[in-house]
Amino acid sequence: MTESYDIIIVGGGMVGATLACGLAEEADNLRIAVIDANQPATDWDTASYDMRVSAITRASQDLFKSIDVWDNIVAQRISPYQDMYVWDAGSDGELHFDSADMGETDLGHIIENRVIVKALHQRMAELSAITLLCPAQVESINFADDATELCLADGAQLSAKLVVGADGTRSWIRQQADIAVKGWDFDQAALVTTVKTEKYHQDTAWQRFLNTGPLAFLPLTEGYSSIVWSTSPDEAKRLSEISQQEFALELEQAFESKLGKIESVAKRAVFPLRLFEALNYIKPRLALVGDAAHTIHPLAGQGVNLGLADVASLIDVVVDALQHKKDIGDKAVLRRYERWRRAENRSMLVAMDGLKRVFGSDLTIVKSLRRIGLNLTNRITPIKNLLMHQAMGK
Ligand SMILES: Cc1cc2nc3c(=O)[nH]c(=O)nc-3n(C[C@H](O)[C@H](O)[C@H](O)COP(=O)(O)OP(=O)(O)OC[C@H]3O[C@@H](n4cnc5c(N)ncnc54)[C@H](O)[C@@H]3O)c2cc1C
Repeated sequence: MTESYDIIIVGGGMVGATLACGLAEEADNLRIAVIDANQPATDWDTASYDMRVSAITRASQDLFKSIDVWDNIVAQRISPYQDMYVWDAGSDGELHFDSADMGETDLGHIIENRVIVKALHQRMAELSAITLLCPAQVESINFADDATELCLADGAQLSAKLVVGADGTRSWIRQQADIAVKGWDFDQAALVTTVKTEKYHQDTAWQRFLNTGPLAFLPLTEGYSSIVWSTSPDEAKRLSEISQQEFALELEQAFESKLGKIESVAKRAVFPLRLFEALNYIKPRLALVGDAAHTIHPLAGQGVNLGLADVASLIDVVVDALQHKKDIGDKAVLRRYERWRRAENRSMLVAMDGLKRVFGSDLTIVKSLRRIGLNLTNRITPIKNLLMHQAMGK
């Protein structure tokens, strides 16, 4: 027996789960299935922090509010940041953003990924339109004319008018659909961990551009900071293997002791960094969202925010198609989603690549240009405000 749905979302991470909740809230009578290969954590020791955190913009916060998960996220744990301070190791260029300059209370929030995923899964469980299949493994997929058919490892057969690949950067769905990606070779990895610093982080997101890559200190509660240190894969491996004391010392030096001594270091992990975009976001009866469609460098903290913007657009396109009695899996319908998102995502991908190259360069001319660029941007209010609006996703 084949179980029929309107939409099947493969991947119930931050992006896929938000899409499911948004569709269930915005469209009537939709049958939605969400399949995830992994059961997310729901219980943990709150004395420690998730090593994966995201800087969530105002636009993403509004989306979470609209699907009734924001209050749950706030009740678990969030860290607002009011300032952002960026400086360059190769010159005396610096840039400072202050939310007060925009008449805002904050620039965004640093939130543990596990907190967001838990709130989303709790919301999915409340919405009767959503069937959550988790943990479940998709074994095969067949794109037929009138539906996409999926077969799960336990033998279950499912079909839907539209399947959405929200299964992350190595998307199995994208590969099965034969959608190629165009990428830029980065040869970078990120070392992530949580540290406690001697001085309070001042609710500021700090980022120092080193020649080897950016080093970010993102503010958490109780004076802790989440570290994202982008560098070469070999160096990231070395940094993950040295003793805690050696690591603390190297981190403090790389950060120019801006927050004093590093008093404690939690578990360290290394994530390979990629930068690519799928050549197509859609094909008949399929759409890709989030990291499955595009993966960027974490330096601007925009990855999941772009994925959530995909979600907002896809909801709009699906609801509009339903109102006009159109087939939601039709290529002409889905093309509007692809055109809409590709333009914005591509400009961010290109900007990230440019930043990485400019700040990774040893050339004197490039170094002086970036000093002039950072300092000028810092002084010219309209450009600064524009960048702040973009960083906030407004
Ligand atoms: C070090 C680092 C720091 C970052 N910091 C930020 C930041 O500050 N701000 C920001 O906006 N972004 C940040 N990002 C990017 C952000 O983490 C990603 O953009 C985001 O996780 C993408 O969400 P997603 O739901 O698309 O994919 P994922 O989070 O990868 O979720 C994919 C889901 O699909 C499931 N899945 C995978 N394969 C299958 C399968 N075959 N079948 C079924 N289910 C499957 C997985 O279990 C998972 O639940 C950072 C990334 C890194 C590496």
